[in-house]
Amino acid sequence: MSARIPVDTASCVARCVDLVKRYADVTAVAGIDLELRAGQCFGLLGPNGAGKTTTIEMMVGLTPCTSGVVEMFGMRWGTGHDADIRGRIGVVLQETQLADKLTVEEVIRMFRSFYPRGHSVDQVIDMLALGPKRKARYHQLSGGQKQRVALGVALVGQPELLFLDEPTTGLDPQARMSVWEIVEQYRRDGGTVVLTTHYMEEAAHMCDRIAIIDHGKIIAAGTPSELIAALGGTQLIELESDQELDAAALSALPSVHSTTNRGRRLVLHVDAMTKALPPVLEHLQRADVELSHLSTHDATLDDVFVSLTGRGLRDE
Ligand code: ATP
Repeated sequence: MSARIPVDTASCVARCVDLVKRYADVTAVAGIDLELRAGQCFGLLGPNGAGKTTTIEMMVGLTPCTSGVVEMFGMRWGTGHDADIRGRIGVVLQETQLADKLTVEEVIRMFRSFYPRGHSVDQVIDMLALGPKRKARYHQLSGGQKQRVALGVALVGQPELLFLDEPTTGLDPQARMSVWEIVEQYRRDGGTVVLTTHYMEEAAHMCDRIAIIDHGKIIAAGTPSELIAALGGTQLIELESDQELDAAALSALPSVHSTTNRGRRLVLHVDAMTKALPPVLEHLQRADVELSHLSTHDATLDDVFVSLTGRGLRDE
């Protein structure tokens, strides 16, 4: 559909060094380092209030940092290169309010006029799969369609780097999928993405690398599989009982890597469920323990977050 963006995967597209943002009574970002490579989808995953949006706002030049460095394509904001940087990025913030009375086509045409180069209006409408809605006014669109228009506005200037701040929050699963498809196409065309989300499925599905962020700091970073492997045991057995569970005895079983407590539940980290489960059940039988709950699942990024912080990504 479009000219590919040339990608040198070794090249650093953006960089933050010891980035800090303090408001009067809160430190929103408390020293973040990150490096973004061309062609990558980099995810900032964390709960509400972790500092994800503020990090993006500093990277895209919407708010100045209190201290630290943001480098975009080797340039810093406020040093005479702002227009150049702006022309090379696209941004979708959490809430995009566009003019209600304009049609989809008019919105895209207006934003296209802001850029010296980019996609044609037809290309963008095609990319968004909004052909049947091109004459519909913005206020007549569903939430998912509005979000696709916001993506179109961000993509019309053919950016090299796309920032997506919680792009699918509040969307139904189908609308979420269509946003993912547009982003995936952009990546196939060579684009680089920074995505913030508190949906671990979204981070696992979309991102090559993830930084888990909590209280304004990166607490772990890596590929989704590296982060999960670091848990020690890629499958989990959750047990709950009214009787006391002997965590030390259970973690001493050869098939069990380690145990953690999650509320009233004891979680066993294991590598191979079929090997691990029989000795666990045997131990419980011998100890005469009745279970009120037993469940198993493959470890997820949420488990990584819980093991690092003791709480879930969605816990308020
Ligand atoms: P969410 O997923 O809820 O958007 P987030 O991870 O994006 O969360 P931020 O929006 O970056 O988090 O907020 C980080 C912290 O900074 C929060 O405690 C928030 O209340 C605070 N904060 C953000 N913007 C401002 C502001 N303009 N003035 C004061 N405090 C702010």
